[in-house]
Amino acid sequence: MQIQSVKGMHDLLMPDSVQWQKIRAIASELFENFGFQYLEMPVVERTELFARSSGHTSDIVQKQMYVFQDKKGESFCLRPEGTAPVVRAYIEHRLYYPEAYQKFYYWAPMYRYERMQKGRYRQHTQVGIEVLGAHEPYVDAECIFLLTELYRRLGLAAFSVELNSIGDSTCRPAYREKLVSYFQAKVSALCEDCQSRLKKNPMRTFDCKNEACKEVSKKAPRILDDLCGPCATHFESVKQSLKELKVPFDVNSAIVRGLDYYVRTAFEVKSSIGLGAQDTLGAGGRYDGLVKTLGGPDTAGFGFATGIERLMLSMPSQEVSVGRCHVFVAVLGDKARAFAFTLVNQIRLKHIKAEINYENKSLKVQMKQADRLGAQYVLMIGDHELSEGKSILRNMQTQEQVEVAFSNIISTLEQRIQI
Ligand code: ATP
Ligand code: MG
Repeated sequence: MQIQSVKGMHDLLMPDSVQWQKIRAIASELFENFGFQYLEMPVVERTELFARSSGHTSDIVQKQMYVFQDKKGESFCLRPEGTAPVVRAYIEHRLYYPEAYQKFYYWAPMYRYERMQKGRYRQHTQVGIEVLGAHEPYVDAECIFLLTELYRRLGLAAFSVELNSIGDSTCRPAYREKLVSYFQAKVSALCEDCQSRLKKNPMRTFDCKNEACKEVSKKAPRILDDLCGPCATHFESVKQSLKELKVPFDVNSAIVRGLDYYVRTAFEVKSSIGLGAQDTLGAGGRYDGLVKTLGGPDTAGFGFATGIERLMLSMPSQEVSVGRCHVFVAVLGDKARAFAFTLVNQIRLKHIKAEINYENKSLKVQMKQADRLGAQYVLMIGDHELSEGKSILRNMQTQEQVEVAFSNIISTLEQRIQI
């Protein structure tokens, strides 16, 4: 019986894989220019890491984690998100010493047991950044600016930044009480999940995908009206700094993020094309308490992540050239083949993509293969050429053929081939 891939987890094939690598190169270059260091964490983490950071009542922890026990009965999971693992690494390796201010980026697959739809899978990849040790609103603004610049470089035109502040431990408790009473009065209209988490975290209702809950939360009290002085000042500065960097944004009080660790700034970038219901391309916010919650020193944090699959769905489709072969070496006879075997590998060392068929096929078959590979040139070598010490180089576009002495093959290819 044929074995298939796991539901919601996909192979990445041509031409998507080419575009994927391009996105990765563009993101890496941009993030490194902005001073971020690449970090790679294990796929498997202790379940407790996410239970403690994301919050026991978060969707991720309650419903979406791939949890398993190892032979000793310890609970592990496939990581569902990147912030908690980066913070764990920051604490574990004392990366805050001697300088708390550190900037990291990652490119990593994430695992969530989701109900599948377009743009929602059980394995997806996120590229994200985390800035640790900086609480200034400039940092919030420059990270949001960075994400929009990434989208711009990827050719995305139709996206919008939605910004909110969700307060902190000074102003949120009183607001939470208000919100609980508002939702309690309309409790029968809420979905089961929102009802059950009403007391623990009523703000999650803003993030609920259920239409009825969305309707109820539209008229709910807004935290923006209840921010404490420092949170309000921080939010004003973030907005001002975004204006200075010419990043257009809308304030949307329904942006709350689904995880417990966020304070103050929360934002999402939405795409108006290609994604349907899954219109959030990327999201992030401030998490000043998280490092301490996970056992490290009291350290501020800000980060975002963007899903690569959703990016690909909303990017303009690009002609991806196959580009697998610059020169195809066609051989006739065993001796020619033995000679070409070393030649082909020497050519490849010169950043020229060279291909060969070792199966002793007819010239016609080899020419067809060269065509399928999109070869610019075919270099022909048979017994006759071998005895003369020269080969025939055919330009596949113009059909023009020239003789090239063996000693000149590499230099001729270097001159003619367009990389
Ligand atoms: P959503 O509200 O759409 O479920 P989320 O709040 O769970 O998103 P985050 O945890 O903020 O998403 O993840 C950051 C980004 O990762 C999202 O904006 C999205 O681009 C992507 N992402 C999240 N979950 C999935 C998924 N199941 N499949 C594909 N991409 C995803
Ligand atoms: Mg989700």
